[in-house]
Amino acid sequence: VEPNQIEDINNRIIILGEDVKHIDKVLRLKEGEEIEVCDGRGTDYRAIIQQMKKDEVIAKVEEKFPSKGEPNIEVTLYQGLPKSTKMDFILQKCIELGIKKIVPLNTERTIVKLENEKAQQKKLERWQRIAYEAAKQSKRGSIPEITPVKDLKNIWQELSENDLNIIAYENEDTQKIRDLLTKENPWPKKIGVIIGPEGGFEEEEIRQAIDKKVLPVSLGSRILRTETAGIVALTILMYALGE
Ligand code: SAM
Repeated sequence: VEPNQIEDINNRIIILGEDVKHIDKVLRLKEGEEIEVCDGRGTDYRAIIQQMKKDEVIAKVEEKFPSKGEPNIEVTLYQGLPKSTKMDFILQKCIELGIKKIVPLNTERTIVKLENEKAQQKKLERWQRIAYEAAKQSKRGSIPEITPVKDLKNIWQELSENDLNIIAYENEDTQKIRDLLTKENPWPKKIGVIIGPEGGFEEEEIRQAIDKKVLPVSLGSRILRTETAGIVALTILMYALGE
């Protein structure tokens, strides 16, 4: 729910919209039963349903606690824009795995170009809807941010040298995420993962990354599809960090 649906004074939560239908028709919950509500900002609530109306559910807060679904590390995925609906799959899976933010990327070899602003806005709204549903489904404490499509050449300035930033490159045959993890101590709070589109990166793009202290990493000796690579990188990171 939105934070303004949580009334601290009355200790109540007012649930509106689609979630009312979900509680009633899908979960089939009744008055007196318990629900878990998340404010999308990192706090979860255990509450008891007091009133079920046609268009709103009122619940009384019993307990408030930090969301368990949030990892302690903030990973941003910079994903080369893939063809067809592969981005939907990537968003969904990476949100399940604990991603904090996803930046769709235009690179030299991106095939899909979202022509006009209207098409871009429509796509973004679709991705944000998928993000909301995926976050709800996997009980995330906050809804990951999906940004508008950016150009790779414009993201270098977003990356801080204090964080760990990696670029997955199939021609990098020595450096593995595993090796970096043993070197990095203490762990940075933020990690950026850059994945190329179907056609991969141009050598020049990798050179620019290295210039910005972004480390090229191998994800193993087999070529992964673009929609697999981010999921694999994120899984390795979460495993290593015990998340
Ligand atoms: N064009 C490349 C080729 O055909 O040899 C393959 C690109 S791959 C399908 C798409 C992206 O996934 C790459 O740009 C890279 O970021 C990532 N990737 C796939 N396999 C990888 C691997 N073994 N190591 C590191 N990155 C990989």
